[in-house]
This record gives sequence, C-alpha cells and structure tokens, in this order.
Amino acid sequence: MTTGTSPRLFTGSSFYGFDKSCKCRYLLYRITDKIAILFPGFQRKQFLNKIGIIRSQKPLCTEWKMPELPEVETLCRQLVKTITGQTLLDILVLDSKLPEITELTGRRVSRVERRGKKILLSFDDGQILAVHLRMTGRLLWQEEVKEIPQYTRLILTFTAGRVFFIDPRRFLTIQKERDSSSYHGGVDPLQNLTPEYLAARGRPRKGSVKSFLLDQSVIAGIGNIYACEILHHAGIDPARPACRITDAQWHRIALSTKEVLGRAVACRGTTVSDWRDFHGRKGSFQHELRVYRRAGLPCPRCGKIVARCLIAGRGTYFCPGCQV
Ligand SMILES: [Zn+2]
Repeated sequence: MTTGTSPRLFTGSSFYGFDKSCKCRYLLYRITDKIAILFPGFQRKQFLNKIGIIRSQKPLCTEWKMPELPEVETLCRQLVKTITGQTLLDILVLDSKLPEITELTGRRVSRVERRGKKILLSFDDGQILAVHLRMTGRLLWQEEVKEIPQYTRLILTFTAGRVFFIDPRRFLTIQKERDSSSYHGGVDPLQNLTPEYLAARGRPRKGSVKSFLLDQSVIAGIGNIYACEILHHAGIDPARPACRITDAQWHRIALSTKEVLGRAVACRGTTVSDWRDFHGRKGSFQHELRVYRRAGLPCPRCGKIVARCLIAGRGTYFCPGCQV
C-alpha cells in the first residue's frame, strides 16, 4: 500500500471482517462487544472464530447493491429491443411519490437512450420521460398477465406487454424532461472517457484514486464493485493518491474502465444480491470478478492473496502483489 492516505488494513473493527455494508455483521460485532464488557470471561475472538465470522469475508445478510452503469446500460439495450415503436396504452401509478404522467397515454415510444445512469424514453410527440433507478429500483417486462410483483410503484402497459417499475425503498424517480441533451453529470465511461480527461481531473486530487473513480461528478455510474475490478485490471493500488498517478497509469485506467465495464455489459451486469435484468434474469459478471469479495483467495494474475481494506468507508479488495 502506498502511504499518503490511511487505509485500515485488517485493523480495529475491520479485523473482525466487519463491513458497514453488512448490518448483521456489524450488529453481531456490537452485541459481542457488550457481552465481553458484562462477562469478562467471554472470549469474543474465539466465539466469532468458532461461528465462522472471522474466517469468512462474506456479508451475513443480503445487501442492496445499487445498479451501476453496466446494469443501467443492460436495461436500456433491452428496453430498446422491447418497447421501441410500441404504443403506451395505460399508466397506473401506485406510489404517491411519483408524478402523474397521464398525458403520455396513447403516445408511441420513438426512442430509448441513456444519459449517465438516467434512461430516457422519447415519445412520438416530443415528450421525454426520464427514469432514474437510484438505490434499489429495477424494471421488469411481462408479456403475459401475471401477478403484480411486490414493491411495484408504476405499471406502463404497452401493446405487447407491461413494464413494472419495482422499488422496495421508493427512491426510484421519473420525471418529464424537455430536452434529451440536458445532462450535467460526469463523463460517460462507455462513450467518451479519455486518459487526458482523467489526468486533468485527477491531478489536483489528494484523495485515493479509488475515491476519485467513485466520484459521480467526474465519471458517471462507477460503484464499489467496478472500481475495485478496474484498478485490479489496471494494476494500480486503490489507495494511491490520484495526484500521484502518472500519465501512463491514467492510460491504463481509461483502457481498463472500458474493458471491465464493456465485459460487464456483455454479461448483463453483476448479480451479487438482488440485481435482475429487464426479463428477470441474473447477470453473470459475478463469475468473472477477480478481486471483489475474494479476500483470502489467490489473485488470478500473480497468485498473491487478495486483501481487503477500507477506503473512504467502503470495503476495498485489491492484490498487494500486482497492484502498485
Ligand atoms: Zn495479483
């Protein structure tokens, strides 16, 4: 690890494999902490080891994983194939947080495109509906009439089937937009990411290169899974300060970003918990992960053991052998 930032490598609470993203593990850690205070004879470390908490790096509970760019791109491509040219017959809003969009009834979908993590549905009269899945949203297509899935917030009925907007935590947003080009987020890594852009934005930053990749105002749609994988692919230590990355390394990061995200799109995303595509199927990029959630296993490139640390509060997986 490079110095400059202070990642915690298996120290303090992370010694117990505790990751804030897993609430069950955190809770267990806190409970055993209290028991150890009340009963001084209680061997917490032995107890946690016995029930497999220290040995296992896996979260104890299902954690929600926000859809990242490859997942949104997957949905967008499937929407293009499924609903382009179809007429919107009916709109059923089941969540009072969502706006009324009845004026779209009877309109034909002329185009589906993506701007960052937003999906834009353009209709034949020029109206545009922008959909953002946020934390836990997903879209599901059904051609035959079946039961309404749990947590459905909105149903759009088209000539050939229905689109369910599902979101257990109700963060998903829809809104009408006037202009499809009015997008102000970070650069799209699948379309126009260049090493020069990365170097120009990264040079003034003293924080780690991993935090830089996660900054949505710089690059749209990279989350924890893909940031770990991109930096492993590029052979760069995630804790290295962005200002100390050389031009050659920015070239490698730009190439690795396109390669890793492109492959993830081809796999229809990564299903480590709840992600399902437009047809309800799991993605398959989880089978190609090289470091994410592989702490303790050998690196597929150099054979060294993959480690885990915390960077900016996020569980970060990396290979100490080939990421420098
Ligand atoms: Zn390695």
